[in-house]
Amino acid sequence: MSSGARSGSTTSSALSGPVSVCVDRPVLSLDRPFTYDLAPELDAGVGHLVEVPFHGRRTRGWVLGPTQDVPGRILPVKARVSHVSFFDRRMLELALYLRERYVAPLASVLKRLSPPRVVAEERAAGLGSPERTLEALAGGGSDLLAGYRDGPALAEAIGEGTGVWSLRPAPEEEVAIALECVRRSLVAGRRVIVVVPEAVPVPATATAISETFGERVALFLGGAKRTRYRTWLDVRDGRYDVVVGTRPAAFSPLEGLGLIYISREGHAAHREDRSPYFHVRDVAIARARIEGASCVLAALFPSVETAAAGARTVAPTRRRWPPVEVVRPGPEGRAPRLVSALRQTRRAFLYEPQPGYGIAQICRSCGEAATCAACGGPLRAQEGSIRCTVCGADGSCGFCGSANFGLRRGGVERVREWAARVAAVPVRGASHGRVSFDRDGVTVAGPEVVRDVGPAGLDLVGILHADAARLPGLSAAERVLSTWAEAVAWARPDGRAIVQSSEPNDDAVQSLVQGNPDRFHRAEIGRRREAGFPVGSPVFRVAGTSALPSELRALHPITLLTSGVGDETLCLLSVAPERSAAFGAAARDLAARGLVTRVEAEPHL
Ligand SMILES: [Zn+2]
Ligand SMILES: [Zn+2]
Repeated sequence: MSSGARSGSTTSSALSGPVSVCVDRPVLSLDRPFTYDLAPELDAGVGHLVEVPFHGRRTRGWVLGPTQDVPGRILPVKARVSHVSFFDRRMLELALYLRERYVAPLASVLKRLSPPRVVAEERAAGLGSPERTLEALAGGGSDLLAGYRDGPALAEAIGEGTGVWSLRPAPEEEVAIALECVRRSLVAGRRVIVVVPEAVPVPATATAISETFGERVALFLGGAKRTRYRTWLDVRDGRYDVVVGTRPAAFSPLEGLGLIYISREGHAAHREDRSPYFHVRDVAIARARIEGASCVLAALFPSVETAAAGARTVAPTRRRWPPVEVVRPGPEGRAPRLVSALRQTRRAFLYEPQPGYGIAQICRSCGEAATCAACGGPLRAQEGSIRCTVCGADGSCGFCGSANFGLRRGGVERVREWAARVAAVPVRGASHGRVSFDRDGVTVAGPEVVRDVGPAGLDLVGILHADAARLPGLSAAERVLSTWAEAVAWARPDGRAIVQSSEPNDDAVQSLVQGNPDRFHRAEIGRRREAGFPVGSPVFRVAGTSALPSELRALHPITLLTSGVGDETLCLLSVAPERSAAFGAAARDLAARGLVTRVEAEPHL
């Protein structure tokens, strides 16, 4: 490692004279560049963290570039904080796109481009452009894409770094096809980012990439602050050709990017829950466009957003989905067909959305309906005790204090109990939120275990209580369907899946049967349009004063819903894509006038 020797030299992209600076004050009312005079001896350029005088105080900020916007009096940049440049012009372009798309302060976007600094780690880091260029990988590997509709076109596009693709792997090929896509980009001599939804447990896709491509791969999956920053600096210095990680990996400073691959793109964890509230899917599409790379959005069942974004679909040419039978729920969800399938199975998964053993119905001591004494909520029997599902209080009768209840049985614990009486193999639950399918047995668990664990090859998957999944919320049905699909995908293509539903014609249930989300998407696109939140139209939740609704109405939103909490007025609005930029400009203006206090993009509805 020789980069340390260069730290005395001059940064090739150093600027001098008037520069625009994004001051690290992430509020909309100050979300504009400020001009400062940069002295050449500070040796700073685009992406450098500097100190500037701002409202009478020394404040940090990032150099954005030279500017012609020079006011009468211009203050000097006081100091360069670090020799590390935190972004280049292309990453700045991405940040500006995100600022616009999410109506977020640029400072909060720039903060997301790199992990928090650990100064001690910077000593060894290089100055700017990476020192190591990628050695193209030799050919070889699998050719699964050849068996996919539009697969050869995707294979070619990855070599060239073009297009946005919706990739729907066959269930048992989810990991292998990700490996193939990564390999194709490396063979073309270009680097790769793979974003997975979760760090713990490590998704099978991430493990496989790391094992296959060895020291070319940086895993960016959480961990200590120091390690994260060290890894980020190493990636920036060109030491890795593939970065695999959660959301922040989408901003990895890789040179020569050829592919951004999003695994399980519909997963809720791909959205950032704090400002700038970005979704990895949008970041990937924008970054691929800016850098001339391919963007692959992979999912067993793609999201309705991806379907509506016009991505080209790549899917197996022949059906590779287990047969899915829909049966009416029997007593306690024990449909006869499921019971007889369980008798014969060696390896199975039963998906039960409810936790616990049952819900208390009536107090056996006084005969009153069972509710929480503290808050009136329902009481659930779980792990041997009874607790309120709302406030968590110890369950006792709200009328007489007794803890002796009649239960309506149902939930993971109860299913485990009756399944153990039926199955010929051991029945178990999840262990520490994980499941493992390497031994014979029936596993009973809920949505929290349905993750990328690699091919499971089960004989049987049962989806219990499909009806209980009709939850409120705009995208609840879609999330539930993708969880069902990921669970059903654990069955071998010649295995079997049984869904218990009293509405066999439901769009989600029928999509599961078909192994294809198209029917659900068609219905969902209509439902969202009717609800006033069409797919593809940005949604914002804006907080501010009571003057807010009339100001926002003037912007002609598709939908505007207003509510008040204390002194604060909350507005939920959806905006036609072509009006989104005007909305952003108005929101910044309203923030500067004190009418808007907060904007949240794409809130969970
Ligand atoms: Zn309660
Ligand atoms: Zn009672």
